[in-house]
Amino acid sequence: MKPRRRPLPALAVAGVAVAAVITASPTAAGPVPDVTSVLAGPTYVYKVRAPLGVAAQDLLGRGFDVLEDRDGEYLFVLGDAATGTGLEQAGFSAVVDEVLPAPQWAPPKAKAQVEAADIDETYYGGYHTVNAHWAHLDLVAQDHPDLATVVDYGDSWRKTQGSGGYDLRAVCITKKNAGDCALDPNAPKPRFFVMGQLHARELTTGDVAWRWIDHLVQGYGTDAEVTALLDTTEVWVVPIANPDGVDMVQQGGDTPRYQRKNANNTNGSNCSGTTSSQIGIDLNRNADSHWSGPGSSDNPCDQTYKGPSANSEAETQALQALWRGLYRDRRGTGVDEAAPADTTGVVVSMHSYSNLVLFPWGWTDDRHAGNDAALRGMARDMAALGGEEWEHGQPGEVLYNAAGGTDDWVYDDLGVASFVWEIGPAWGTCAGFFPAYSCQESTFWPKLLPMLVYAAKKAPSPYGG
Ligand SMILES: [Zn+2]
Repeated sequence: MKPRRRPLPALAVAGVAVAAVITASPTAAGPVPDVTSVLAGPTYVYKVRAPLGVAAQDLLGRGFDVLEDRDGEYLFVLGDAATGTGLEQAGFSAVVDEVLPAPQWAPPKAKAQVEAADIDETYYGGYHTVNAHWAHLDLVAQDHPDLATVVDYGDSWRKTQGSGGYDLRAVCITKKNAGDCALDPNAPKPRFFVMGQLHARELTTGDVAWRWIDHLVQGYGTDAEVTALLDTTEVWVVPIANPDGVDMVQQGGDTPRYQRKNANNTNGSNCSGTTSSQIGIDLNRNADSHWSGPGSSDNPCDQTYKGPSANSEAETQALQALWRGLYRDRRGTGVDEAAPADTTGVVVSMHSYSNLVLFPWGWTDDRHAGNDAALRGMARDMAALGGEEWEHGQPGEVLYNAAGGTDDWVYDDLGVASFVWEIGPAWGTCAGFFPAYSCQESTFWPKLLPMLVYAAKKAPSPYGG
């Protein structure tokens, strides 16, 4: 595989002395991360040797915060100095790849109701807050009543507890006819569904969703491609699938917090709050499809904590109820069974980062989905639209196996063509979870728009029937 990341400063992890190695001997180590950020930041990205297969699964199984990124035989782990010690003690060969600025905590804004003015509320140079996203949906529906329908499909975990939280919201966009946008799997038009920020810290994905919504409602009647799409297809967008998690991220302001999971602290209320020890359940390990399999953790403080039981989380349950309202079940339960060729619908879950298009099965790469040829072909096409650095494959073929993902669930339970996009490069000016906001316009959107259009156009017949 081609190198995906920049050359590394070769700093060996030496047990408890990780931070000391970095700060004390910059010259001996060659080009060292910026000293200011070393001193300021207790957060590191470790490059860890973990070839595909046993070593990679062992790394995830031990609960390290493994990033969605692979460079040949290496994976990348986010954590603090103690994480380096833990990697050493677990027998992994690791070096410090990056030193990240320390996230800062600020109290959340308390706000019970979304207001129209919230649409301008941003953090970290332009990223919209949850309230801004919800105000945006309201405005779109108000300005385009012939096109847009906002759907409240549930409550976030915090809201179910009566402790703040958010409605879970989707928007259905189509040129409305009778029966459109109803939660009825036998509705007349095929459906393309895309969601962002199931993993809260993956900021780019929510912004792409915002732009996609605007592109559709502003283009209808003037852009022939958009007009044809909305005349024939329902486009569903969930811009933020994990609003409680995003609320935690945005509280960091100009130094967003690295929260990935939801806010459910029923288990693991003693998690320290560092990048390697956070409350919450990983909503992309919680789904009832080979739940508790590879790539998920039993430890409530781990970033890949699968939750106490399959589908335990409010956000997971609500998404599944929504998808069952949108799509008929077209697939049997056998691992190798295919959905029929005339199955409709496409679902894309946007994540960050690594420039990958992934498709089921995520829980194993020893088995292929019954519709593998069509899924793989679509993934190849979408990766080509993303650019030459994009790759495609089952997760275990290019990254690592991960069980309990919503993407596997959609295909497993319903037979609907399902994909994950890992958006963004692993190095360079627009890399990582928190690219500068200017990267959205300059780098991501020009690539993501054709990918979205392609996926949406496939909704009537993803399997070629
Ligand atoms: Zn993700």
